[in-house]
This record gives sequence, C-alpha cells and structure tokens, in this order.
Amino acid sequence: MPATPRPLDLVPHRRYNPLLRQWILVSPQRTQRPWQGETTKAVTTPGLAYDPTCYLCPTNARSGGEHNPDYKSVFAFDNDFPALLPDEPPASPANDSPLLVAEPERGRCRVLCFHPNHSLTLARMSVPDIAAVVDAWAFETATIGDLPYINHVQIFENRGAMMGASNPHPHCQIWATEHIPDEPLRELAAQQSYREEHSSCLLCDYLAAELADPTARIIAQNDEFVALVPYWATWPFETIVLPRRHLGDFPSLTPAERTGLAAILNAVTTRSDNLFQITFPYSLGFHQRPTHGQAHDDMHFHAHFYPPLLRSAEIRKFMVGFEMFGSPQRDLTPETAAARLRALPDTHYLDWE
Ligand SMILES: [Zn+2]
Ligand SMILES: [Zn+2]
Ligand SMILES: [Zn+2]
Repeated sequence: MPATPRPLDLVPHRRYNPLLRQWILVSPQRTQRPWQGETTKAVTTPGLAYDPTCYLCPTNARSGGEHNPDYKSVFAFDNDFPALLPDEPPASPANDSPLLVAEPERGRCRVLCFHPNHSLTLARMSVPDIAAVVDAWAFETATIGDLPYINHVQIFENRGAMMGASNPHPHCQIWATEHIPDEPLRELAAQQSYREEHSSCLLCDYLAAELADPTARIIAQNDEFVALVPYWATWPFETIVLPRRHLGDFPSLTPAERTGLAAILNAVTTRSDNLFQITFPYSLGFHQRPTHGQAHDDMHFHAHFYPPLLRSAEIRKFMVGFEMFGSPQRDLTPETAAARLRALPDTHYLDWE
C-alpha cells in the first residue's frame, strides 16, 4: 500500500528558490506544538520627534562637521564613511597565483533620510510621505546610475538594532557600484535563463501563480503591487513585494505605481509591527535592473523584506549550523507565516483603541 500523501505543512520537505537557484529545507513538524501566543508587551511610549544627538536630524552636525539643512521632507547626502569611493583606484600589484584575485571597485554611497521626524518608521509614515521617498529612490537611481562608472544601484534599509542599524532615524542607504553585486547578479541570471526557456518572465509567471490562490501566501495587495510570503522564503516572516506590471526599476514607476508602492510598504511594515506589537526589525532591499549593459528587460523590479524574528520579539533566527554548512532551513511554513500576517489588523497597534 503506498503511503497516503500528506500535505506539505506536516512533513519535512525542501522547496526551490528559482531566483537564487537554491533549495531551502522546511521542517514544519517541529512547530506542531500549539502556538503559545507569547508576545512581548511593547514599550509604547512614542519616541522623540527630534533628538539633539542624532546626526540625521535636521540642523544637527554630522561627524564630518557638516550641518544638515532644516529639511522638511526627504534629504540625501554622501555617506561620511563610504564603503566605496568614486576615484579611479591605483592598479593592484600583480601577483603570481591565479587564485589570489582582486580588482578595483569604484562606487558611491549615499544616505537618504525619509523624514525630518526622528521617531517615524515606514509603518508610521503617511502614504504621501512614503511616496516622496519613492520619488527620491527614483531620482537617486537615475542620477547615480547615469555616472559612467556605475552599473548597479542597491537601495536598502536596516531597521532596528537587531539588524545592526546604528541610528533609529528613518533612513536608508544607497550603494552604487561599478560591478553588479552577487545577489542581484544571481537573480538576473536566473531570470534571463527562465526567459530563454519559457519566453516569459519568471516573476510575472510566479505572481500569476500566487494570484490564482490568493489565500495561500498573499498578505496584502492593491491595484499596483502585491506583497506575499514567497513559496521559498528563508526568513520566518520574509516577504517579497512585486509590481503587477512588468517593469525594471524605480524610474520606470508611474505616479500611480509610486503611490501604490508607498501604500504596500506601509501595509507590510504595519502588519509586521502588529505581529509582536513592537517596531519589527528587518532589512528591506530593492532589486532593480542594472543601469548600463545588456539584458535590462529581464529583471522584474521587486523588494525583499528579510526580518530575523522567529516566534516572539526576543527569539531571533540565526543562520548557523546546517544553514552555514548545508542550506537554509525553516520550521514555520510560508503559508502559516502568511496566514498570521494576513489575519492581523491593517491599523498600526499604536493606534488601536
Ligand atoms: Zn534623528
Ligand atoms: Zn515580469
Ligand atoms: Zn531579489
């Protein structure tokens, strides 16, 4: 007698991530114990709107001695401690081994403040204010991407001390590089070969598959964007944000899509904050097409939220052991994570009665 097939939420299995072309081990049987509902009661005192010691607040001095303007909306500047420099570096000394490989890398590092108010987050900002941030992301992508030595613009936000954010002031970083970094390069290669094989876009096809069963993994959607826990998610409450239209980068977004993206970013961060009733830590990053070179049209623009929290505000996931030596692993299925996020109110917990 063949064994009765059991649903994937009961048995160990592995899932394929077609963007990174890697497998993830899913072990849902380890979460069969009932949910304890343990949430850490948040400290809900609103933060300071202005912090005189913050180097990102309006009018304050930065470490280089420069003073920020009295900005009223977004504010971008060159990072005072950049990881990359725009100057042509001297050629590396030659060495005898083909295994000792180094090459020069030029780039620009910028910081973008989302808002003058020190206490805000994407979850607590208004949609028009977030739309102004989206406009700034488009402007920075277009202007930095236009530099002849820049081929890729990576925009990311680290939120929360757990993610290594050194300052709670709402801001992101923009690292523009001469070479396409490994992660987007892998995703670009996967999307290119998918198109060669299927004559269609990987993420357009994936979105269509998810929309066919909107109660499976989708957590929020509007006319322009869909947010969901991807089938192959690594992090417990990981989400991916996809535009419904096939487009490659921030500058390609229409005004309606910029507002739609602002609204969906607010929806995802609000639900995430509501999960444990804390300011939910995460790394948010956008993948967009390279600024120069071939194969511009294969990259389907998207955002990843990688949050580290597991079952409560204190329990975080570490990528150690099997994950360092083998492959990523998760216990909670993406479907369970999506159901929990979807069931939460779309009003922020600080505004609950
Ligand atoms: Zn500040
Ligand atoms: Zn597409
Ligand atoms: Zn990506």
